[in-house]
Amino acid sequence: MPFGGFGSQSSQQLEKNRNRRQEMKITIHRGTDQIGGCVTEYEHEGWRLFVDYGEQLPGAKHTEPLDIEGLTKGDLSKSALLITHYHGDHIGCITKIPDAVPMYIGKVGRDIQLVLSNHLMSVDNLQKDVIEKLDKARTFNPGVPFSFGPFSIKPIIIDHSAFDAYAFKIEAEEKSVFHTGDFRTHGFRSGNLPKVINAYVGHVDYMVCEATNVSRPDATSKSEHALQQEYVDRFKAHKGNIVYVSTTNIDRIFALYHAALRAGRPFYVDEYQKKVMDVVVQGDQIWGKSPLYRYGKYLPKVLQYENGEFRINDKFREYLELKGYVLLARAKSKFNKLIAQMPGEKVKYLSMWNGYVRPDGIAYSPALAEALGSDFEYLHTSGHCDMQGMKQLFKLLSPQAIIPIHTENPDKFVELFGKEWHVLRLHDGECVSL
Ligand SMILES: [Zn+2]
Ligand SMILES: [Zn+2]
Repeated sequence: MPFGGFGSQSSQQLEKNRNRRQEMKITIHRGTDQIGGCVTEYEHEGWRLFVDYGEQLPGAKHTEPLDIEGLTKGDLSKSALLITHYHGDHIGCITKIPDAVPMYIGKVGRDIQLVLSNHLMSVDNLQKDVIEKLDKARTFNPGVPFSFGPFSIKPIIIDHSAFDAYAFKIEAEEKSVFHTGDFRTHGFRSGNLPKVINAYVGHVDYMVCEATNVSRPDATSKSEHALQQEYVDRFKAHKGNIVYVSTTNIDRIFALYHAALRAGRPFYVDEYQKKVMDVVVQGDQIWGKSPLYRYGKYLPKVLQYENGEFRINDKFREYLELKGYVLLARAKSKFNKLIAQMPGEKVKYLSMWNGYVRPDGIAYSPALAEALGSDFEYLHTSGHCDMQGMKQLFKLLSPQAIIPIHTENPDKFVELFGKEWHVLRLHDGECVSL
């Protein structure tokens, strides 16, 4: 039966080739063993969808610049870049991408990054290029699918310490992938996640999942809600409150603002921080109905600024002494000078990752450590999911396989989840066919 055998083999081969043509491929160009600088590629029939192109974190192991076919070189006519959110480790390298590659980003996230880039422009030349890129970007809406070549992409809003952050459901030829982006399940908006997954995502074939907190498997993250209550209690108990917080950690900033209102303390920010808050308040998005992102009975008060310094006079001092205050500060000399002139008892809080003030750490910021001094309270919770939250999400999506990224410890991920789920532990640049 040589002919028959050959014939059937041939048709099998044809079938195989046909199937092969239809396969979607995933390549993690960077991010299989580090938290920063993730770049993921989805490829189908010559079309390429990249997700995120960020900067590596300080102290990253391999720091060679990435040169990627279809993203930075070669044929760019069938490529697009999706941005999950505005954190530097996801968006930081966008200026290296030729204009021929269209970039997609959520509208409010883009507008927040524009305020930040405009603010930084005087000290950072690169921000001009970032603004140009963002002006040309295409924006998408939560839950509204769009297509690029053979891909269907559905942006799913997800809770993270960056606002307007997205996961993506990516589909091509009957295969579906859920790319989580950075996310957590202990934020103000996380309660909706199961509902959102059921309504907009359903079951998927594969998951590309961030795994930042995998090295601390037993830690349970404090909820943003509980953290806000702690701030209310502190603000009631102390008159002078100075909080060091990332200017784009929107949920935390609004939590602090409403905590100040509840405690009856005036809330002070500088003009730049107020602009960031205004973008959120004016953004007409699905969370617009939430009172968290609205101004309450009085607006945030904007610090007066003149000749490179914040203005403070006796009247202002008397007012602060009488009413107390909550001030959002940054580790800058203009803030240090203002704080030195503010009256009475001052309690300082660190409301961001304490790695910035660990002298032996790679992310150590001497300016922040100096501004805080030795006497401060650390009141913070992670922007990333704990392991319980991760398990919940896996159950909701029930994927055939999970690919961990955005982690320093992929092997720990395999150890934790490999018994229950099929975990594909990839290496940078390795390609997998779905
Ligand atoms: Zn992030
Ligand atoms: Zn990240």
